[in-house]
Amino acid sequence: MTKGLCYHSSPFPPPPPPPPPPSMSSKSLRFFSSPQHRRRHHHYRGEKNQHHHHHHHHPLLSMRWRASSSNLSRRISHLFAHFANKSFGIWSQQHTTLFTRGCLSDLSCQSTYLTSLSNNVLTSKTETGQPQRTLSGPVTRMGKGLHSGEESTLTLFPATAGEGRYFVYMNDIVTEKISASADNVVETRLSTCLGIGHTKVRTVEHLMSALEGIGVNNCRIELRGGQEVPLLDGSASQWVKAVEEVGLSIAQDRHGCQLPALSLKVHKPIFVFDGDSFVAAFPAPATRVTCGIDFPQQAIGRQWFTWYHCNNASYKSEIAAARTFGIYEQIEQLQQAGLIKGASLDNALVCSESGWLNPPLRFPDEPCRHKLLDLVGDLALCAQSGHLGLPVAHIISFKASHSLHVKFCKAILQAAKDH
Ligand SMILES: [Zn+2]
Repeated sequence: MTKGLCYHSSPFPPPPPPPPPPSMSSKSLRFFSSPQHRRRHHHYRGEKNQHHHHHHHHPLLSMRWRASSSNLSRRISHLFAHFANKSFGIWSQQHTTLFTRGCLSDLSCQSTYLTSLSNNVLTSKTETGQPQRTLSGPVTRMGKGLHSGEESTLTLFPATAGEGRYFVYMNDIVTEKISASADNVVETRLSTCLGIGHTKVRTVEHLMSALEGIGVNNCRIELRGGQEVPLLDGSASQWVKAVEEVGLSIAQDRHGCQLPALSLKVHKPIFVFDGDSFVAAFPAPATRVTCGIDFPQQAIGRQWFTWYHCNNASYKSEIAAARTFGIYEQIEQLQQAGLIKGASLDNALVCSESGWLNPPLRFPDEPCRHKLLDLVGDLALCAQSGHLGLPVAHIISFKASHSLHVKFCKAILQAAKDH
């Protein structure tokens, strides 16, 4: 593995918060960083003041409008008196923090970018032009796990900007957070399993794929009952629907600031392979993913599919609905190995030598699209601190397994660390 990748960042000036009117209380300042936050009433406490900020009697505006007037100095002293009376100190303090944070993150991004170019490295961080997002409220789904067959209940909760996506297993005791990161992958046989210590969460890939695909950067995921994510209909559609049910909001950190969502940009090819399987990333102006599969069963055969990640809608319409599939002749052997106990004809497409057991397919190339769904779910494990997991690159996989996906994620993360 050579260097070829860096987190790339075009200068991303975080939009400076508009100067708040001095008549606003410090609480209402939260509002400046995220008008969308209005939807989360339990977090937003300054609603009554929201109109003030375009008010024509705003002293700052008054000053600008009347700067040429002869009594300017009187107005300025009036303005200062006004600030002093209306907790300007608190305002100033908070906004100095905001600006400092913004400038620092901007500078560090730029220096990363410059360093990466001068060293001819593999990756850099790049702006997506989007703030990090989270859910607007909690949403729950329950169902059987694909491999364990156990019933579990999973709830997605909003999370703070910068926290990223993480699992918490809630049983008699609440376990520690398991970050949805490639570093926490403990098993990859037919599904991707995360774990820390004795706590495991199996088959995270379809849920992770949905969250990455539709832009849920920060999310607390609580699991109760079984230690496996419910399979639902075998695709990511139900997770997309669950997120749509509550909607997305701009995530805020604990200071009430929004954070930019960054992507890793690939500057030179990075690849991993195993026999004739591979996953590779090539430099490209935008994120696109190509998957190839090759099965001896005629009903599947050779399929290729490319997805252009232009917006969240393309994930929903082209990828999310593709279901898990399996080979009929392997079912018994896998069940004897303690796997796919929760699989049925309702949640997985089954293919035999003589064709599909439970048609119709949702797409003619549904198996290939599902492999792409799985790959996106595993690439989501490259995400750190609420940034994107999918790099800006053309990612191409052929006959790849979860274990190769995860090996690729680790190669990407290593390349990002190396510069
Ligand atoms: Zn899958």
